Amino acid sequence: MTHTEIGGVAVPTGHLIGGSWVGSPTTFETRSPLDWNGSPLAEIARGDAASAEAAVSAAVDGFAAWSELPAAERAAVLRRLADLIETRAGDIARIETLDMGFLEESMKQRLVARGATNFRLYADLIERHEDRRWDAKQMHNTVQRMPAGPAVVITPWNAPFMLSTWKLAPALAAGNSVIHKPAEWSPLSAALLAELTLDAGFPAGAYNLVQGIGEEVGAALVADPRVRRITFTGSPATARHIGRAAADNIVPFTAELGGKGPFVVFADADLDAAAHRAAWQFDDSGQVCLAGTRLLVDESIRDVFLERFHHHADRLVLGDPRDPTTDIAPMAHPDHRDRVHGFVERARVAGDVIVRGGRPVDGSLHYEPTLIEPVSNDSEVVQHEIFGPVLTFQTFASEPEAIELANSTAYGLSAQVWTGSRERAERVGAEIRAGLVWVNTFLVRDLTAPFGGCGISGIGREGGDYALDFHSDLKTLMILDDSTG
Ligand code: NAD
Repeated sequence: MTHTEIGGVAVPTGHLIGGSWVGSPTTFETRSPLDWNGSPLAEIARGDAASAEAAVSAAVDGFAAWSELPAAERAAVLRRLADLIETRAGDIARIETLDMGFLEESMKQRLVARGATNFRLYADLIERHEDRRWDAKQMHNTVQRMPAGPAVVITPWNAPFMLSTWKLAPALAAGNSVIHKPAEWSPLSAALLAELTLDAGFPAGAYNLVQGIGEEVGAALVADPRVRRITFTGSPATARHIGRAAADNIVPFTAELGGKGPFVVFADADLDAAAHRAAWQFDDSGQVCLAGTRLLVDESIRDVFLERFHHHADRLVLGDPRDPTTDIAPMAHPDHRDRVHGFVERARVAGDVIVRGGRPVDGSLHYEPTLIEPVSNDSEVVQHEIFGPVLTFQTFASEPEAIELANSTAYGLSAQVWTGSRERAERVGAEIRAGLVWVNTFLVRDLTAPFGGCGISGIGREGGDYALDFHSDLKTLMILDDSTG
């Protein structure tokens, strides 16, 4: 059997290799955070070294047919895939909700739609692309992009569908064949996406999916010297392993890693808007790399800000993500919920003040939206990514102190600044060390802008042409202009 019926949707349970579904001798189970102790949702093929070898071979074989297609034809395939995603949006959202607990309506309206947009964006970009040309020193110079070869795409369990499309679209648009290895905690939406590629018109082997455990099949994929690009989203710990494998084979590697975003509120900000947005950092149970998890607030507005923050946090509804009135869904996995609680327990012991929340919710995988006032900026909860519904609260006395606190962790993915002053926005924005700084807003992005982190938040940049350049070998062609003698 290659499919399992889940929530009324038939989901493939194998690997897609060279255009065919294949299994593995063993499987792993995927469970739903909505009913953890119930039956598993599915048994999924557990890829091994042989699956990795077969998938890379298929990607090597599929590379020529895909990379040699003219850009307009590749773009047409990507647009067909975008259309198919929209047609199956309800199924994809339902499956993602069951598999990792995402709010179903938000998934359908926001993240599945964004998945389709990602493929259309890259279809447009390759069609519009023109080689850079210039004449100098009696030479006609042209910079060309050459597809690099098979690319391994490794993705995490949070927002799995959207993040997968964000990474797969530029790899494919650039002309590379791909091998996608989704996270073992949320393998199902990737299986649906792979199934859609069969109808989109990719040549066999251009798009491959391998399921399994990171340390097993993931490690085997990134170690294969035939792979010419590795693009990874996940934790810094895994990035170190993958980076070593990439170094062994001299393979370019991008890593989108964790965050510990500062959420800086100045006294001149629209306080209610800022406090409302601060409470919404609990969205998705805090399993968001971009979340502003360190609330840094001007000491002169401490009390009024906290009053507004609690007002908004009190109204968040914890519940079933299939119910449209739910704001906060359960966490994706009990191990992760326990890991989050471990941070809170250690903070309690260290003397940090738990201002609200701080406990798992009985009978579900929910965790109470939690605010902690740390004893020091060195506290573990300030310095380490928790990746759950846990925020810290600190105050500052001046703009330079706010900037110093904002820049005081090893991370540098994103930041939020809330201020009524354009001059302050420019000044503080320029001083914050992060790949992305939002002022008076959150999450909106221009997808052609660079996206990535500083420090241990990552290596390289995604987005627009930045990702297409990464997935290409850039070549300079220099032709002597003999007309000048
Ligand atoms: P993870 O690093 O545990 O796993 C990510 C992926 O790597 C999974 O598919 C896993 O199977 C695979 N993997 C694990 N070990 C491997 C190995 N040795 N070789 C090859 N592959 C291996 O991360 P996670 O827990 O799934 O995701 C959460 C992390 O991802 C958080 O730190 C979060 O901040 C980060 N994240 C970052 C972004 C971003 O854009 N910067 C977006 C989402 C999540």
